[in-house]
Amino acid sequence: MNNQDMANRDLAVLWHPCTQMKDHEHLPMIPIKAGQGVWLEDFDGNRYLDAISSWWVNLFGHANSAIIAALKDQLDTLEHVIFAGFTHESGIRLAEKLVEISPVGLTRCFYADNGSAAVEVALKMSFHYWRNQGQTQKTKFMTLENSYHGETLGALAVGNVALYKETYAPLLMEVITVPGPDCYHCEPGESWADYSTRRFALMDAALQQHADSVCAVIIEPLVQCAGSMRMYDAVYLSLLREACDKYGVHLIADEIAVGFGRTGTLFACEQAGISPDFMCLSKGLTGGYLPLSAVLTTDRVYQAFYDDYTKLSAFLHSHSYTGNALACRAGLATINIFQQQAVIETNRSLAVALTNAAARFHGHPHVAEVRQTGMIVAIELVKNKQTREPYPWQERRGLKVYTYGLSQGVLLRPLGNVIYFMPPYIITEAELELLAEVAWQGIQYAVSN
Ligand code: PMP
Repeated sequence: MNNQDMANRDLAVLWHPCTQMKDHEHLPMIPIKAGQGVWLEDFDGNRYLDAISSWWVNLFGHANSAIIAALKDQLDTLEHVIFAGFTHESGIRLAEKLVEISPVGLTRCFYADNGSAAVEVALKMSFHYWRNQGQTQKTKFMTLENSYHGETLGALAVGNVALYKETYAPLLMEVITVPGPDCYHCEPGESWADYSTRRFALMDAALQQHADSVCAVIIEPLVQCAGSMRMYDAVYLSLLREACDKYGVHLIADEIAVGFGRTGTLFACEQAGISPDFMCLSKGLTGGYLPLSAVLTTDRVYQAFYDDYTKLSAFLHSHSYTGNALACRAGLATINIFQQQAVIETNRSLAVALTNAAARFHGHPHVAEVRQTGMIVAIELVKNKQTREPYPWQERRGLKVYTYGLSQGVLLRPLGNVIYFMPPYIITEAELELLAEVAWQGIQYAVSN
């Protein structure tokens, strides 16, 4: 079997996510045979550096021996069991760990099996909490411009990226969308902290106006990842926590993409010293091995559901694979690596290496901004550096960087015209250099073709 054979078989029967399948008339489908560390290998023996951690899930590399050993042991013991009325050791131990490592006050863990499902759970729990409290007028959610929270209908409704949302608008619940703190738009010389503080006034005004009908504000702390990796300062989170308390509204922190060390702390909320009412986790939760998500919440929320069955106040949400034992065990193995290898500390020097590798892009005539938060660097390509006029999206410049990257053995799947590095934490400085060099050449190719 070679790449061509596998691609032909794939294209005969499969329909891939986030893909215009017709693109594959000219874009190669890359069948991956195996992964090792930051490298993926196709059926023709070509290797690709996984610079985006396979959609931000992989933290410690492909074929990580510690996670594999834990999974093999789990497989020999218990693969899965119904999680209503029944429980299992890995599910219990992972919840204990998550409660231990998450911001103070988050003491309850509810499992689901992907990020969007976790967002649905948090939205429903928040709404249902207020209902159980007799506050039935609270039925709305507040979200930020340019946010992304997943693609099931509830999660899509609280997101704001037009590309994913617009088509389905007639199906979606109405939300209150507030202009965001995206620091790409700060004035020359204005700090991220100042801009984020200034923009918070709009959120405060919206909360003041709508608090009576709002269950929760949902945000991606520090980085709006699917929204072009736009970033903002932690002060916004501190102000938001204060305001949510003041106006009696929940705060849902969607840490699905930024959790588990991505922003330089284990959870992004830590940088503001805040605890949300709900924290959604997925992606890195299992080190990128198996689908799993968790919603952590407070005892206060939990107690609002805890009553006699006949009161009908229970949270009856369920998924068949809730608390899958294999996935929970992968989660435990992942957290174990964080604790045994002082990953957050090690990542500090890796983040500096990322800064250095990305330094060359600042001066590029078609780069409007190079921004970084922890282990994420984003490079915004524009047609005109002075006016920041974007390239027309139809030109698909980012896609050219992607195809160039593949030809050089680097997987750099962009977000529109934003090229970003979000590598597994085991990447070496030499590999980072390679990544930056290929991205540089790819950008040269993309802006001149
Ligand atoms: N929230 C955020 C912040 C995300 O980045 C994503 C996925 N990119 C999701 C939710 C949805 O997760 P999933 O793809 O597992 O449904």
